[in-house]
Amino acid sequence: MNEYDSNRIYDLTSIIGYSKTHIKKEADCFVLNTCHIRKKATEKVYDEIGRVKKDFKNLKKPLVVVSGCVAQAESEEMIKREPYIDMVIGPQSYHKIGDLILNYERKKEKINETKFDVVGKFDELKKISNSQNKISSYLTIQEGCDKFCHFCVVPYTRGPEYSRPFEQIIDEAQNLVSNGAREIILLGQNVNAYNYNKKYRLSSLIRTLNNIKNLKRIRFTTSHPKDMTEDLIDCYKDCEKLMPLLHLPIQSGSNKILKSMNRKHNREYYMSVIEKLNKVNKNTKISSDFIVGYPGETDEDFEDTMELVKKVGFVNSYSFIFSPRPGTPSATKKLNNLVESKIRLKKLQNKLENFQHRNNKEYLQQHCEVLIENKLDNQEEYFGRTRYMTPVIFKANNCKVGELANIKITSFNQKNLFGIYETNKVKAA
Ligand code: SAM
Ligand code: SF4
Repeated sequence: MNEYDSNRIYDLTSIIGYSKTHIKKEADCFVLNTCHIRKKATEKVYDEIGRVKKDFKNLKKPLVVVSGCVAQAESEEMIKREPYIDMVIGPQSYHKIGDLILNYERKKEKINETKFDVVGKFDELKKISNSQNKISSYLTIQEGCDKFCHFCVVPYTRGPEYSRPFEQIIDEAQNLVSNGAREIILLGQNVNAYNYNKKYRLSSLIRTLNNIKNLKRIRFTTSHPKDMTEDLIDCYKDCEKLMPLLHLPIQSGSNKILKSMNRKHNREYYMSVIEKLNKVNKNTKISSDFIVGYPGETDEDFEDTMELVKKVGFVNSYSFIFSPRPGTPSATKKLNNLVESKIRLKKLQNKLENFQHRNNKEYLQQHCEVLIENKLDNQEEYFGRTRYMTPVIFKANNCKVGELANIKITSFNQKNLFGIYETNKVKAA
């Protein structure tokens, strides 16, 4: 979502005359769009500002703006901790960035803008076209969260659940496709909680996008298991453009830990969702997020997670050590032993990697459908992704970016598949 927001921030600043530069020392303004989900992400912001300071030591100081969830959570404190920062802007007020910069240029007074104005934000954004022109483009449809998992900052930094108007989203999708997008990834912190005017759900959006000519693939992320409703599951049966990989975070395989996390689902419910999906489409695969070392997690709880991983056989998953976030209920709980948590994380990641390896191996000498996203810098190879998001690097003489290609896989490593282009006549698997 930060990538989507960063693109929109660029669209907004281009109206007041700014343009992107890849030469750092040329910049008049830095916008650091930040993430607050784990402590490591927060610390990166101050490290990056340190690097800007060093680079501009003998040059005119650039305008430094911190946007995103760190700005929301720490607001004024950021300017106190790092006076090099001129402006903090929360994720629900970045539509004002143009005016704020112009104000700053006039008055040179520090600015703290962290109001929740998500309706105003999307009203403003719909007036300027999304300039993104990637083959695979992001499109935010929903923001915020009302679930309040005990470890998570999102309800505090992005605010309550908000669903963008249905027509606004379809217009933006059509605009992206006319810019060249062939895949759209619908985004939301709780994307499957999308509900506009109690009439349009995520399934309505998918069914409408499925009819857009020239759009070839649809994905959405991130979903909460509780919101995997029947109408959404049915899309995996009826919508051929909806890709058969569902990212469905479970966090832990232990019911005791899930309860203590306030996740509002248990492992049996989670398994029943997967079962329903497999019933409507046997090709569906699941990826997930895991938190290890949550306060109170015992060896037995961790083994429950490992056992669940074995049962489901997840692909392309993410795993993290619990990071206490200030202001969340679990931040005050007694922390688990870090060395133990690191050992558990390694064990879990090894297991997930084994599944990934096994999954990649299955492609060997097979043909698979790849959406070609770009030509690599070496000018000899192309990059694309399978229907399950696995990156594919392949050689081709004459293929077109944006087409669905038939690639024969000849080798693989942990993360990528490698192959050769055979034809653009693909049968969707
Ligand atoms: N809404 C999605 C859900 O409920 O499953 C998750 C979105 S969350 C923004 C992305 C992921 O970050 C979570 O699935 C979780 O694994 C991880 N995460 C969130 N808070 C965390 C914390 N305090 N420590 C470690 N990982 C965390
Ligand atoms: Fe955070 Fe997802 Fe839980 Fe919402 S549902 S509080 S975004 S982890």
